[in-house]
Amino acid sequence: MTDEIIAQFPLLQKQQDGKRMVYLDSGATSQRPQAVLDAVSRFYKEDNANPHRGVYALGERATAAYESARDTVAEFLHAKREEVIFTRNATEALNLVAYSWGLHNLKAGDRVVVSILEHHSNLIPWQQVCRATGAELTFLYTDQRGVISDEEIEKKITKGVKLVAITHVSNVLGLVSPVQKVVDRAHAVNAVCVLDAAQSAPHLQLDVTKLGVDFLAFSGHKLYAPLGIGVLWGRKELLDDMPPFLTGGDMIESVREQDATWAELPQKFEAGTQNAGGAVGLAAAIHWMQGVGYDTIARRENDVYQYAWQVLSQLPHVTLYGTAQGQHCGAISFNVEDVHPHDVATILDADAVCVRAGHHCAQPLLHHLGLNSCCRASFAVYNTREDVDALAASLQKVRKWLG
Ligand code: PLP
Repeated sequence: MTDEIIAQFPLLQKQQDGKRMVYLDSGATSQRPQAVLDAVSRFYKEDNANPHRGVYALGERATAAYESARDTVAEFLHAKREEVIFTRNATEALNLVAYSWGLHNLKAGDRVVVSILEHHSNLIPWQQVCRATGAELTFLYTDQRGVISDEEIEKKITKGVKLVAITHVSNVLGLVSPVQKVVDRAHAVNAVCVLDAAQSAPHLQLDVTKLGVDFLAFSGHKLYAPLGIGVLWGRKELLDDMPPFLTGGDMIESVREQDATWAELPQKFEAGTQNAGGAVGLAAAIHWMQGVGYDTIARRENDVYQYAWQVLSQLPHVTLYGTAQGQHCGAISFNVEDVHPHDVATILDADAVCVRAGHHCAQPLLHHLGLNSCCRASFAVYNTREDVDALAASLQKVRKWLG
């Protein structure tokens, strides 16, 4: 098969025990196209130095490469460049908001609302900060399909709620959350709204001016960029008011023996040597996605998703979770009757089909759905109907293997 998108991913050309690799775990991390690998390699071969430190030409090239990556992210999000903060990943970005905004703005009696869909990264920081401040953590629950109703939003986001943190797309069910309704409601009660875009950034065009949220977090590694680089976007007026999350080199204006003053945004939140190579790779990944085009990404991914739902829902002994109704990105979770998900994933691996099994860092959601664990197939722009056929063929063997 010659597919010009797949051909750009070296790892997808590899075989496992003589079998074509069917990578269906992009929700955990995507593969990287050659353009991203080249950009990172070029940075280390030609421009590597500690950004913001050296005044020599090489140091200035490193700074320029890093800051140019920030411009790319700002343009990608339709944001101001000083509002873009590089982090290690979405988890660190969400912790930054929780510990910096949360610890300093929440008090006993306030409420924080999250949804039951949250990945642990957008839940545990809020549990911790609520515990420390005495604020109360409450949940937007879904129905059995994973859908949050308008009534639930109206009922839970009321006066006294100071912050609402919600995932844009569920990493388990792949469903797009009703962000607009949540944001409108949050702002109507003067709450700030945090969007976990870890699972949407690889699939949807993100525009913070349209989304209307106050903070947004994502990881580069799920959108074709290297591991270890992520982004927090926040509204300037909120970020300006927040104390630093981490302190140390590079985030100060001046330091005396007993105290210090902070640098302007975004440096205030970027303590220590930054992952400039990762930032360059993230910029290359964004340019690569823009080159492919969001229409192409959506067309290919929707086709694979719809086909997968149709094929998998017809397999005997296979139960799919969630619903094919509504806007979807990237993930279908399922179980095979009477077979542990880890056994399913191990059997699929014998056919070089990579799916994830477990609680997907969303234990409260799984409990809410009456599950302990499940398998998840997650898609990216390089997946095809052929991948779905391989998954279905392998799934049909599972119960036979186990007798
Ligand atoms: N939020 C969601 C919805 C996720 O799916 C993930 C990772 O799977 C994260 C947050 C955390 O991402 P990272 O581990 O890159 O920080």
